[in-house]
Amino acid sequence: MLQDESLAMTSSLYAQRVENVEVSEREPVEVSPCPVCRSMRAVPRFRIVGMTERVVVCSECGLGRLHPMPDAEVIESYYPDEYYGEPGIKFQPLVERLVRWVGSRHISFLSQGLEPGARVLDVGCGRGVILGALADRGFEVHGFEISAEAARGADARAQVTVAGTLTEAEYPSQYFDQVVIWHVFEHIVNPVETLESVHRILKPGGRLIVAVPNFSSLQSRWSGPAWFHLDLPRHLYQFPLSALRALLDRSGFEVGNAHHFSLRQNPFGWIQSALNAYSSLPRNALYVMLHRRTSAGSFPFGLKTRLWLSACLIAGTPIALLMTVLETLARNGATVHAVCRRR
Ligand SMILES: [Zn+2]
Repeated sequence: MLQDESLAMTSSLYAQRVENVEVSEREPVEVSPCPVCRSMRAVPRFRIVGMTERVVVCSECGLGRLHPMPDAEVIESYYPDEYYGEPGIKFQPLVERLVRWVGSRHISFLSQGLEPGARVLDVGCGRGVILGALADRGFEVHGFEISAEAARGADARAQVTVAGTLTEAEYPSQYFDQVVIWHVFEHIVNPVETLESVHRILKPGGRLIVAVPNFSSLQSRWSGPAWFHLDLPRHLYQFPLSALRALLDRSGFEVGNAHHFSLRQNPFGWIQSALNAYSSLPRNALYVMLHRRTSAGSFPFGLKTRLWLSACLIAGTPIALLMTVLETLARNGATVHAVCRRR
């Protein structure tokens, strides 16, 4: 593929425009049963410009989801190879180093209380950043991916299975000490079936950690269609924390603490959502700029735009960090991770 085409695709991946559905159209529509509460009524909230799918919000539990739900082939088209970047590398080198450093801080959290040599599965392991760091600590690491392209460049110590669904991966029952679903659950078309599989392959008392954007957060409600973490159309579901808890509980997990602090996700969400809401630049321009380019000096924006975006990033960071601390204290994180035990 020509470099210019590749660049255009990377920026268009994230530039998908999202708008509010007009108030006059926000009448409940009939939908398939909600995976959380089984209600068949939902209110249209956001339209995705140029697409028939909209985000509708369950009238009972507040779960957001794409409606109509696209089929597997259409969902696959949301993830061209460019989505995963070059093998083993996703961002500019400096940003990549920062992402890995912040990621490795998570590892201490993910390792807490695990016995030496414990068997851990990362669902949607991608480039295997989590798995590599867990292998460093002596755990037996397994990864599940639906995309062979995504798993290219993953840590060689990880045993990666590529299959269409977690059920199709056919892991033995009561096999894992811990399963991690880190910012992947909202991409999965059948969350109920996935949790049933996780329940089967986890040992009794085993731990499940699920991280998702929080649809009921202040950041989400403040930014509406401009919210960075909507990531449409790839996020098939938008979970308010209460709906996530209800679904986990119903699926046989005892939900303990929900954690509201994420240095990796939450401050950037404030800055990019504000830019989406108040600048005329393409959606998620800052995120696209921070992505690694295929060669030095080729960016989808001119120098002036890049300087402006860099200035916004520097000026916005202290405010974004403050908002992140405040939302954590209010237990209202823009993204959350729930720690559960298999009953
Ligand atoms: Zn519902």
